[in-house]
This record gives sequence, C-alpha cells and structure tokens, in this order.
Amino acid sequence: MDGINNNYRRVHRITIVNKTIILSDKDKQELAKYAESEKPYESCAILIGNEDEKNWIVKKLFLTENTEKSRATFTISPDEEFRVDQIAKESKMEIVCIFHSHPESEAHPSETDKKFMRVNPFPWIIYSGVTKEMNCFILENENVKQIPITES
Ligand SMILES: [Zn+2]
Repeated sequence: MDGINNNYRRVHRITIVNKTIILSDKDKQELAKYAESEKPYESCAILIGNEDEKNWIVKKLFLTENTEKSRATFTISPDEEFRVDQIAKESKMEIVCIFHSHPESEAHPSETDKKFMRVNPFPWIIYSGVTKEMNCFILENENVKQIPITES
C-alpha cells in the first residue's frame, strides 16, 4: 500500500510542476502598480479564472484591502473572499490564485505565507517591491514549488 501511495504522490507532483499560470501583461502591470501604491503595506488581490489540465488561466483581478495594514503580513476579509467567490461562480469561473506583495523583501513565501498556503491550496503570486519580480508558488506535500508565469 505504501508503494502505491508513494507512486501516486510522485505522479501528482509532476502534474503540478508542469502547470503554468497564465496572466496577461496588462493584469501583471496592474498588480505591480497596486502593490507600489499600497506601500509601505503589503497589498493583496484575488485572481479568478479557470483551471484546466495544463494551466490556471487568470481572467479577472479583484484588488482587495489588506485589512491588517501591515508591512509583513496580509489578511483578506472572509466577506470579501466570499463575495469574489460568488462572482466567480456566477461567471462559471473560480478563484485560481491569491496575490500579495512584499514591499521590503524578495518575491518568495515567508514562513507565515507557507502556513496560510497550507489552508489556501491555490497558486500564490508574490510581488517584490524591492526587485520588482513577480513569482508564483504552490505548496504541495509541505514543499514550496515554483510555477512559471506565462504571459497571455
Ligand atoms: Zn508574504
């Protein structure tokens, strides 16, 4: 049984790594602009769209408020997340990605991020206000995996 489970996990992991997130250049610029405008605090957004076997396709951005107004963490209110989820469902879409920025550090998940990635199993895009880089990650089996961002 253990052998079967391990094989399954390995196959599943490869599937995730091969997936990319598709984000338009316009959306990418809008997220970066929003992150810069929210400095010195972290900014956040919910990205909705569709998921197929190969990609997460971002179709619409919801720039949300960081209710914590913090330089090192962010919180999206559950009401806001619920509202976005409802809008997504009405348009036959779903939440495909969570975005947030690191105004003073690199575009990599912090320990706090990893904790929340565990309960929000979406791809996470992180923008760095320092390097201006945007990277996407997903937590799988306690490992952080980077997902390529493809421009549409
Ligand atoms: Zn973070």
